[in-house]
Amino acid sequence: MADALHHALARMPKVDRLLGDARLAALPLQRSIVRRAVQLELERLREALRSDVAAGRPASVPDDATMAARVLARLARWSSAPQPVINATGVLLHTNLGRAPLSARAAAAVNRTMSGSCAIELDLETGKRGRRGAFVEDALCRLTGAEAALVVNNCAAAVLLVLSASARGREVIVSRGELIEIGGGFRVPEIMAESGAELVEVGTTNKTRAEDYARALDAHPSAAAILRVHQGNFRQIGFVERPPLAELGALARERGVALLKDLGGGALLELGATGFRGEPTVEACVASGCTAITFSGDKVMGGPQCGVIVGERGAIERARRHPLARALRVGRLPMVALEGTLESYLRGAAFEELPVLAQASAPIAAVEARAIAWRERLAALGLVGEVRPSEVEMGGGALAGRSIPSFALALAGGDALLAALRRGDPAVVARSADGAVLLDARTVLPGDEDALLAAVVSAAAPG
Ligand SMILES: *Cc1c(COP(=O)(O)O)cnc(C)c1O
Repeated sequence: MADALHHALARMPKVDRLLGDARLAALPLQRSIVRRAVQLELERLREALRSDVAAGRPASVPDDATMAARVLARLARWSSAPQPVINATGVLLHTNLGRAPLSARAAAAVNRTMSGSCAIELDLETGKRGRRGAFVEDALCRLTGAEAALVVNNCAAAVLLVLSASARGREVIVSRGELIEIGGGFRVPEIMAESGAELVEVGTTNKTRAEDYARALDAHPSAAAILRVHQGNFRQIGFVERPPLAELGALARERGVALLKDLGGGALLELGATGFRGEPTVEACVASGCTAITFSGDKVMGGPQCGVIVGERGAIERARRHPLARALRVGRLPMVALEGTLESYLRGAAFEELPVLAQASAPIAAVEARAIAWRERLAALGLVGEVRPSEVEMGGGALAGRSIPSFALALAGGDALLAALRRGDPAVVARSADGAVLLDARTVLPGDEDALLAAVVSAAAPG
């Protein structure tokens, strides 16, 4: 047996011989990367030969061409960058698909500045160092009515920073109905512990009243803040009660503590016109007397991944000076993309220019017309589909349990078609219902329609 193994191992190709394969030699890749892949494939073969011999099976060594093909396949897996995807899911902010698509204006701003330098932290008037991202902070203040603003890497970071800067070593009062998990293991009690603040729970899961907060403040005279967490990714119905935010704002002011609001979604405008009701605007939270409000850039605001803190100057400056602020700071590219996004708001063109808001506010007749046009174009190519009413969700942990009407093109083909669409180029992510594949006409971006139909035709083609 040892002999058989020895024999088989001796017939294995050498690394340099495989590296000489014409297809491997022609790859536009760093040689050490190709060598690493060759070594790993040879290692895998060695293991296979050992287990063949141990099991008494014939140990066969593949020819060099087969081995080179395995190395190529491994390298192809290594270089799979996130592929562009057409979102036909019916979920506007799909967390697994990168949440909000950037507007053309934001993408152009990023394009203009990303390969060179930009004045992100330099005042070009005076030539002196400026406040990093002063332009976005000023715009955020103008759009929300807040005194000051600070941008960090995401909303989770914003919450951690605000709690660390304003409540470390002191108590923070939170309703038991708001001790939630946001997703990705981000849990309010844990983030609180991480910040060094001490959690004081009040009320019950379904009902918390202003008196509950007031009694907790009586019992904890050194408390730093009340934290209110927006119920975005779940919904409570039935026997439920929470005091209005303004009532907590008044209580916090009277007792000299901060009112922190983790809003999650950052609606800079009233979304009611889209049919999505019940999402508070940032401006309304500011007006209710919050000391600091945290929200995401890539949820309903429709921008890049980032976390925004707006609020009273003192609280924002404490956060800005906290050592964590440097560790959590936002990158230059999202900062520029955020500026491009906010410009749409400042121009009064957010509902036209920002993809998420444009998709959410498209008139239902236009959405239906789109689905019908897809059906006609596919019919001309011999593919039969049916237009059906559907529902679209906001997604991304915002507006859970609420949906707005849409239309989808339903195609026969079930899970096999769904999988073929996912593996296409561009990939199309859709959903299935009752054995049909549904392509939602509200969540597909206007520029993606031709590519979508081409991808459907090739995914549906036999073979
Ligand atoms: C989504 C959300 C967060 C986390 O936001 P990220 O930008 O994903 O870090 C925090 N709090 C609330 C209430 C949220 O909805």
